[in-house]
Amino acid sequence: MLEQIKHTHPLVYRNFSALQNGEAYLRRVVELDRYWEHAHMFSSDGAVLPGSVFPEGTPVNGECDIFYAGGTLGLLHAAVMTKRYGQKVVLVDRHVAGTSTRDWNISRQELRRLEETGVFFTGEIDSAIVRSYKTGWVEFFVEDGRQKRLYIDNVLDCAVDADRLLGIARRKILAEEGNGILDRTTFRRCYKFPDHVIVEVSGPEGEILFFKAKVLVDVMGILSPIAMQLNDGRSQTHVCPTVGTVASGFQEADYDAGEILVSTERADTSAGSGRQLIWEGFPAAGKEYITYLFFYDAVDSDNDKTLLGLFETYFRKLPGYKKPADDFTIHRPVFGIIPAYSHEGFSRAREIADDNIILFGDAATLHSPLTFCGFGSMVRNLQHLTAGLYQAMVAGRLSRTDLEKISAYEPNVASMANLMKYMCYDAATDTPGFVNELMNEVMIVLDGLPHRYRQAMFRDEMRLEEFVTVLLKVAWRYPKVLKATYDKLGVGGSVSFLKNLAGWALSSTK
Ligand SMILES: Cc1cc2nc3c(=O)[nH]c(=O)nc-3n(C[C@H](O)[C@H](O)[C@H](O)COP(=O)(O)OP(=O)(O)OC[C@H]3O[C@@H](n4cnc5c(N)ncnc54)[C@H](O)[C@@H]3O)c2cc1C
Repeated sequence: MLEQIKHTHPLVYRNFSALQNGEAYLRRVVELDRYWEHAHMFSSDGAVLPGSVFPEGTPVNGECDIFYAGGTLGLLHAAVMTKRYGQKVVLVDRHVAGTSTRDWNISRQELRRLEETGVFFTGEIDSAIVRSYKTGWVEFFVEDGRQKRLYIDNVLDCAVDADRLLGIARRKILAEEGNGILDRTTFRRCYKFPDHVIVEVSGPEGEILFFKAKVLVDVMGILSPIAMQLNDGRSQTHVCPTVGTVASGFQEADYDAGEILVSTERADTSAGSGRQLIWEGFPAAGKEYITYLFFYDAVDSDNDKTLLGLFETYFRKLPGYKKPADDFTIHRPVFGIIPAYSHEGFSRAREIADDNIILFGDAATLHSPLTFCGFGSMVRNLQHLTAGLYQAMVAGRLSRTDLEKISAYEPNVASMANLMKYMCYDAATDTPGFVNELMNEVMIVLDGLPHRYRQAMFRDEMRLEEFVTVLLKVAWRYPKVLKATYDKLGVGGSVSFLKNLAGWALSSTK
């Protein structure tokens, strides 16, 4: 596969060829890029089928209380369901469960929620934190020196080795008798019966296996065929393609601060009608330093959103963000398409459940579309996502309407989708400096407000009055945002923005 991209993506070819497992990483990139074929023409209506079409007499290979398809955030949820609630679980992953293609940043305060489940202990969580920073900052490029660097403490300031944390969860699951984790096993489809599901998977050698479960938890991420089917082929409205590396040997890297959002130039028009590229830089273990490049975009924009294309841009532009020194070494790539959903209405508009089936994590796409912290969202909500499912199972209330109440939907977080739309550069309505200018004004406003405002915004904990204060102050300083609201959101989008705010005002999280 590397040879095939030698001429189309020469920088990816060169850098991935130098990596141990470069070919395998490239395959994972290409696998995720299949999303773009699906996003345009795939509605996957064969993922959930009625029990009536299940071939009669087919033997079932195993039985459990909860069947998990997907082994990233699924491992955290399954660990709590088995250790705390005594459920028998089987989990499958098409790769090796607990080996993700990313690392995570989160605050210490949020990580405490894992301890509150009673399943993860302080020492275990500490062992997965590879570095803590003193502070973090955000800065957007503006040309006339008005650039505001906004410092934020206690936000995304712990770098977590994702695989180490997931490994802990994996061991906890396997320590309980009767549980199973099947690697290199792919979810194919499931059959719905009145009080259970039968899940069909294919194993490492292509063998077909069937499992009977009271509940199927879909944690297959952005490629979830179930999410696709339940949402008529439109499981996301927006995305954030993200690529980067864990590397060492930059000329200048501050190991005491996280660079949370950084732009270094105006909108880039080299891959379609335009995208505002944004960098992130986080120190990791030892001399390692993680850099990410990403952009916010609508699913149906004309930009090239492939991870392969973005990796080529990343390698080309990296020296403009952080200059590699002579000993620069890439240890591994990190990448993914982070999904987002804009709920047009007063409350959750996206389908996240069916009878005996529930979606969590990126498959549910309920995390903040602004900060894109899906791991953070799961950690914040883990307590009620597990307790809620257990109570529903005990009560035998596993219909779609029962299960969809157990969700990580947070009205304050959902309203952030409206801010995310301003981050999606649109050549038809925006000047090339628009996103930077606007975000720079937001930083200036946040700088003039008490520290808790910026923390709340970047930790997905904003209260309604804080949100409205920031909006009004930005509009006062930067009136162009009012016309931009009309241009970018249109009448429908502006009404939806107001509905989101009304839903938030009426909710318990205001
Ligand atoms: C580069 C990057 C950096 C990030 N940084 C942060 C951060 O700092 N903080 C934060 O909070 N969030 C961060 N996120 C977001 C976070 O990583 C995701 O929200 C989280 O990984 C979602 O987990 P998930 O289990 O829902 O989906 P995924 O991580 O996508 O995992 C899905 C799993 O399902 C498996 N799978 C898929 N299809 C099938 C199938 N048919 N059968 C069986 N298995 C299947 C996959 O192999 C995979 O293991 C980042 C994301 C990216 C891409």
